[in-house]
Order: sequence, then C-alpha cells, then structure tokens
Amino acid sequence: MKVLVVGGGGREHALAWKLGQSKRVDQVFVAPGNAGTAEEDSAAIENVEIGDTNIPQLLAFAKKNPIDLTVVGPEASLAAGIVDAFTAEGLRIFGPNKQATELEASKVFCKNLLRHADVPTADFRTFRDLESARLFLDEREDTPMVVKADGLAAGKGVIVCSNRAEAIEAVERIILTEEFGAAGQQLVIEDRLVGQEASVLAITDGHTILTMPAAQDHKPAYDGDRGPNTGGMGAYSPTPLVTDELMRSVEEKVLVPTVHQLKRMRKPFKGILYAGLMITKQGLKVLEYNVRFGDPECQPLMMRLQSDLVDVLEAAADGRLDEAPDMIWDPRPAVCVVMASEGYPGDYTRGHAIRGLTEAAAVPDAKVFHAGTKMVDGQVVTNGGRVLGVTALGSSISSAKLQAYTAVKCIRWNGAWCRKDISDKALAP
Ligand code: ATP
Repeated sequence: MKVLVVGGGGREHALAWKLGQSKRVDQVFVAPGNAGTAEEDSAAIENVEIGDTNIPQLLAFAKKNPIDLTVVGPEASLAAGIVDAFTAEGLRIFGPNKQATELEASKVFCKNLLRHADVPTADFRTFRDLESARLFLDEREDTPMVVKADGLAAGKGVIVCSNRAEAIEAVERIILTEEFGAAGQQLVIEDRLVGQEASVLAITDGHTILTMPAAQDHKPAYDGDRGPNTGGMGAYSPTPLVTDELMRSVEEKVLVPTVHQLKRMRKPFKGILYAGLMITKQGLKVLEYNVRFGDPECQPLMMRLQSDLVDVLEAAADGRLDEAPDMIWDPRPAVCVVMASEGYPGDYTRGHAIRGLTEAAAVPDAKVFHAGTKMVDGQVVTNGGRVLGVTALGSSISSAKLQAYTAVKCIRWNGAWCRKDISDKALAP
C-alpha cells in the first residue's frame, strides 16, 4: 500500500521511518518532509514538495497516486480541515476532523468538556471581558493562578502567575493589549497546580482506545527547566512517574470519559488523543489536550514500537480499532535529545552545514530523526530552530541517555546546542 505522511518535523520523520518498516507498505511519501526523510535508507520513503497546509494540492496528490492511507502530523494541517477534505472525497485519513480539533484549539472548550465529563482538572472560570475577570480576581483569595488565552498561541498564551497582581497583569495582556490577537478573545483563569508533568498519548477511533506508554517532554529551553518555553527540547519514554496503576486511572478517569463526552457532543474523535497531565499530591489532573502526536514525544515512542504502525492507524481511520492487533512495545526505554540552532527559541540563522551524521548513525541503538533540515547541493544544512532529534534505546533510562548523548557528540554545526539533562527527572531519587 501507499502511505502519505503530512508534515516535515522530527515527528513526521519518525512516523515515516516506522511506517516504512511495515511489510504491507510499498511506498511512504512525506509532504514536505526534510533532509532526513529524503535521505532515509529505505528506498520506499520519498519527499513530495507540497506544504503541510496546502490541502488542494495534497488532495490532488493523494488521488493521483493513489494513496491508501494519509497520516497527519501537524496541528495546523488538522485545523485547516485536511481530514474533512479527504473524507469528503472518500480518501482514508488518520486524524480528527476540524470540529474535533477544538479540543486543542480552544482551552475554553477543553476545560468545559473536562468539567462536563467529570475529568479531574484544575478548578477554573472562563471570561470574555476585562471587568468580570478583574472582579473575580479581586474577590478571590490571593493564591497562585494560571491565566490562559483561549486559542492557539504556540505555548506562549499560558501565563503562570504567583499572585493576584500578576494574574491581573496577565489578563490585561490578553484582553487589553491583545498580545495574543484573536486567541485572546476569551480566557481561562485556573488554580495553579504543583506536581510533575507527564504525557499519555492514545490512538482512538471514537469508540475504542489504545493507550501508548507514558512519556515526559522538556519544554523549557535550558537545563533545570529554566528559560523560555520551546516546542520541546527532548523527551523520554516510559516515565517511572506513571506507574501501571496510574496508567489505569488515566484510562478510566481521563481518556474514556473524554472520548464518550465528545461522542455525546456529536464531535466523535478519531486520531491521537494526547493528554498533558500534572501528577499532584491530590492525584492526577489534566492540564491540556493535544489532538496529534507530540514532537518530540513521538520519536522515543516510534523507537520503542515493535509492531506494525500501519495496522492500527488504518483500523482507527476505518473505525474498527477493536479489530486491530495490540501494539507491542520494546521494554527498553528511549531518550530523545533535540539539537537546536543558536538563538532558538528566538531568532536564528539557517543554512549551516551539519557534519558527523554518518558517525552518529553508527552509534548502536541510536537514530537521528531530522526536523529543521534540508539538502543543498548534496549537503545536509540547518533549516529551522529545532534541527535534529537524536534518539536512542538503552537497557535503562541512563544507558539510553548515554547512547543518545554519544550520538549527539558526533554531530556539529555552527551554533549547535542542546540541553544536557534530558531524562534526568526520571533518574532523580
Ligand atoms: P503546548 O505548547 O504544550 O501546546 P499550551 O499552550 O497548550 O502548551 P498548556 O499545556 O495548557 O498550554 O500549558 C503550558 C504549560 O503551562 C504546562 O506544560 C505547564 O507547565 C503550565 N501549566 C498549565 N496549566 C497549569 C496549571 N494549572 N498549574 C501549573 N502549571 C500549569
């Protein structure tokens, strides 16, 4: 069969690499892909020069070739309605439709859904105007709070506040100065929780749920979780934080009621349901939902997946996930270290030649997934902020970490940097 992967990041490289291993798959096209997908050893993987939100062209390509299954990586493609467009033409596609992406695209929608479904989450109120938000803050106790712009703001619309004064300032930034534009037309004010964060991703067809092992990502730019937030500087799976018992709770108290509630609301959800969780002293709480694979979390997950990915994604797209075989996971942990361009998450330059990829590829149990890279005259050069996801398996988290950093040390370009402490949270006593 022929598969089309939409997107060009580390997540999509990992998905294409895994799908390319399937005996059932003859060819994987990646639109637009990157230098990693262009250079992948498997001859079955090929880039297509179409942007990930160019739905008319993606549709025309899928019809012409013809593609048996399309797998969508980025949220932007989903929000642009790719699933609706493909489904309307009778093409098989894995991902939620535009309506269901609201779960990620609107924090007000997500929080209300969690409340109605009785899913544990921080106590909250939603607001549209400055006065009522101010009044609410004046009348409540002066405790730490989090203020969130409703819409998508690349992680920047979430302002974690220590007290009332900071919360009022955050509300003003969102409503008065309109710092987040249309994303700030509504906002959420919620209790600030204390605990460790974990991600649980599940595949669902709207009825059946297949949960994947838990992962932990690293959003802040610098070691010790300091500095500005990024798209993610590394991830590992599994995390000792999420025990088998906790995983059962996530399924029973979080995933099942969420999928049911979406069905009741006539927004049946097909795709990846990604629960961002905070494990507090009072138990687990949902911070947010994403509606697609996380990047970089997808990279350690794909390294650990031993069974055929195409079987489950195809079954989910067809609404018969109950018939799909179980997913089989390598018991060994995987760690992914993101290598970034100098200046990221701020401004950075592109076009630096990347050296040492062959040496890194020779490190046992390591795999370099590409994100912001492209080929120029036969040379791989940087083409984004997050450039590579260097991912490795190991008999323990510390040995996976060692292998990943051994591969990282082989790679160099002008201004390359990474966090040095990916997965240390798991190793802390
Ligand atoms: P992402 O970039 O992951 O999509 P987002 O914009 O959807 O982020 P959230 O995941 O809701 O936003 O929040 C971002 C981060 O803010 C969380 O990972 C967490 O560290 C912090 N955060 C959010 N809500 C709370 C809360 N109630 N208490 C404490 N910290 C919180």
